[in-house]
Amino acid sequence: MKKPALLWLNISIFSMTFLVSVIGAPLYLALNGLSTSLVVALLALFVWSGMSITGGYHRLWSHRTYDTHPVVRVIYALGGALSLQNSALHWASDHREHHKHVDHIDKDPYSISRGFWFAHMGWMLREYQAHRYNDYSNVADLQKDPIVMWQHKHYLALTLLMNIGVPLLIGVLTGQVWGALLFAGFVRIFLGHHTTFFINSLAHTWGKRPYTERNTARDNGVLAFLTFGEGYHNFHHIFAGDYRNGIRWYQFDPTKWLIASLAWFGLARNLKRTNKYLIEKARLEMMWLRAQEKRASFSDVLEHEYKVLIDSLRELNSRRRAWIAAKSDAINDMAQVKELKAQYKSLKRNFRQEKRQFRRQLMSAA
Ligand SMILES: [Zn+2]
Ligand SMILES: [Zn+2]
Repeated sequence: MKKPALLWLNISIFSMTFLVSVIGAPLYLALNGLSTSLVVALLALFVWSGMSITGGYHRLWSHRTYDTHPVVRVIYALGGALSLQNSALHWASDHREHHKHVDHIDKDPYSISRGFWFAHMGWMLREYQAHRYNDYSNVADLQKDPIVMWQHKHYLALTLLMNIGVPLLIGVLTGQVWGALLFAGFVRIFLGHHTTFFINSLAHTWGKRPYTERNTARDNGVLAFLTFGEGYHNFHHIFAGDYRNGIRWYQFDPTKWLIASLAWFGLARNLKRTNKYLIEKARLEMMWLRAQEKRASFSDVLEHEYKVLIDSLRELNSRRRAWIAAKSDAINDMAQVKELKAQYKSLKRNFRQEKRQFRRQLMSAA
């Protein structure tokens, strides 16, 4: 089958941000060092763009897990343009397909079934999804949000303004134009891209599955740290309607804290949580499933040992017969009889030991 056409715009963006980051940044550091203002600018824009994806594109628009004030939505729309990950409308449309058809080889836009690289960024390098580029029927609800549509319509202008205009402004204000373009622009985009892409690649391969094994999504604290809480992906895939991803108090989920804080200030409402008994039921089901698997493999071991015992009992019987027969046969000398007797006795000792062990295992299994 012929491969879909290459998407040169995406390829150029990814290679440029990569090359400028890995070549330009060390060069700049060697020549100028890194000022505090550049570190602050990088971090601030990284957080703004990153949390606009997690709190805005993902938990607000893709999954409708809460409602929020138009001012917050505008901040998300601008931060989303800053993240350079397409419009919220397009992003949410892809993401809803991902949830609906997770792991399906064709229907999941970034299916891990096509490999780590495909899920990470390969899916964006060719026109794999061309058939649904302009089909926004799965985000009809979002088309009623004027802020989403405003961002979608002016996406190009907004993304240029945010990714060139804002770093340039920071550069002029701090007197470090090249440094700001480099760190608040290129390096920040590069880091933001790959940490987000990890959710489609790493969070579907690396980590635990405490809630469900019906899909490849994993819970992973390290990823959660890098992605504002999105690393609890196993929970997210089974309870996508929950505004939280990390539900335990010790799980790192700043996006959840952001949404809860917005609600506290009256800027968000209708925060959706999954019934905790349903969550507990999912956990119990997984524990039961694992216990059954363990029990099945344990009973396989016991069955094998039982067969070994029966076989050695047979062997014991035939050895005994051989010994008795040799003893009653006057032709055989005593040395041979003694040898056969010794063999029989040692086998018997072994058998007794094995039987004791088998009995102990049976007791512990009961
Ligand atoms: Zn996923
Ligand atoms: Zn999701």
